[in-house]
Amino acid sequence: MPSIQAPRGAPDILPPRSGTYERVVRRCEDLFRAYGYRRIETPAFEHTEVFERGLEAGSDIVVKEMYTFADRKGRSLTLRPEGTAPIVRAVIDHGLDRGSLPIKLYYTASMFRYERPQAGRQRAFLQVGVEALGSPGPEIDAEVVELGAAALRAMGLSAVNLHLNSIGHPVCRGRYLPELVGFLEERRSELCGDCRRKVTTNPLRTFDCKVERDREVMRHAPRITDYLCAECRGHFDDLQGLLGDLGVAFTLDPRLVRGLDYYTRTTFSFVAAGLGAQNELGGGGRYDGLSEQLGGGPLPGIGFALGVDRIALALEGQGEPSPGGLDVFVVTDGQAACSGALLLASKLRADGLSVDLDYTGRGLKGQFRAADRAGARRVVVVGDPEASTLTVRNMATGEEAEVPAQELGAHLRGGG
Ligand code: AMP
Repeated sequence: MPSIQAPRGAPDILPPRSGTYERVVRRCEDLFRAYGYRRIETPAFEHTEVFERGLEAGSDIVVKEMYTFADRKGRSLTLRPEGTAPIVRAVIDHGLDRGSLPIKLYYTASMFRYERPQAGRQRAFLQVGVEALGSPGPEIDAEVVELGAAALRAMGLSAVNLHLNSIGHPVCRGRYLPELVGFLEERRSELCGDCRRKVTTNPLRTFDCKVERDREVMRHAPRITDYLCAECRGHFDDLQGLLGDLGVAFTLDPRLVRGLDYYTRTTFSFVAAGLGAQNELGGGGRYDGLSEQLGGGPLPGIGFALGVDRIALALEGQGEPSPGGLDVFVVTDGQAACSGALLLASKLRADGLSVDLDYTGRGLKGQFRAADRAGARRVVVVGDPEASTLTVRNMATGEEAEVPAQELGAHLRGGG
């Protein structure tokens, strides 16, 4: 029988790489909780309508990238391509907006988009993110942007730039779009086929084009920030002031319109140096009209999503070793009873240490090799069951110590 592979663009994340993923997720989640966000889980699939209404019919995600299927009763369902619309759907569904505001939620979830796979771009990928609903800002905008920056900093990522923009609300965009379309029509012959189509379907998306010639054209395009109304301008100025107070460095980027169509006012993205084409580690924005698009009442919101796969790539690019390893590997010396090793491992695990041992009957040398492969920091040798001391080897330095059995837990916890 031929073997079966994972679908294209749906990678398995194996150890030790999965350890990097785990660390990224854990650090983000710890930080999200420290900022007062609480976890939300929504299903991996939704009624297709959630995304069709939430993301607007002409958006790239809806037109080209959704995994949509009919269930056995013929209802149209879609695998979640992004986290925000489902969360707003859940907030409306459960009336959370009638409770105390803002509602601050975080998630860690796989997303599914039918994209052309390449390094840093998959069809199934993991995001961590937050949503804060119920406040028009700009203070909450500052908190959310600062939280994103803090999460990437906590990961030890250097060289990440924060790009910031405001795309106003629909009235500002209504004044801006004819100007943009006029400009694009004038330069039509210089645009790629995809962008020519977007001139009529979704002109803002021409800013996302990766083709260098198009990018050069777009450098001369009119800027949305020149069309903001006084209110949106004031919101944006206040946000910049608050970020300054918080010591968050940013670059104003009037071309940052982002890929999702529901954004209003604040948009931002975190861009890593040296990651190639897929260099955006995360991004987000304000989506004040989304709740109404999904059938709810007015409920302003802002959030971001960070791509765990790209953060892991960036960390690996920085030469960061995959974390992992074990506190202790228990080795049995010769004929000593294996049950003694099992018992000791169980006790040390109950003490809060991560512990493993050999289950394949290897000799002493083989067990030490296994300890090394497992990334164990210490090896404890279990020999004579009557002995009052155990040998502990520090695997980094090679030093060995004889430790009284009763002191073993304390010795290992103390890093001895
Ligand atoms: P978005 O939901 O499109 O705003 O993307 C937020 C973040 O998710 C991006 O900055 C990426 O880090 C990550 N991301 C988006 N699409 C993909 C993909 N196809 N594969 C891997 N990561 C992705």
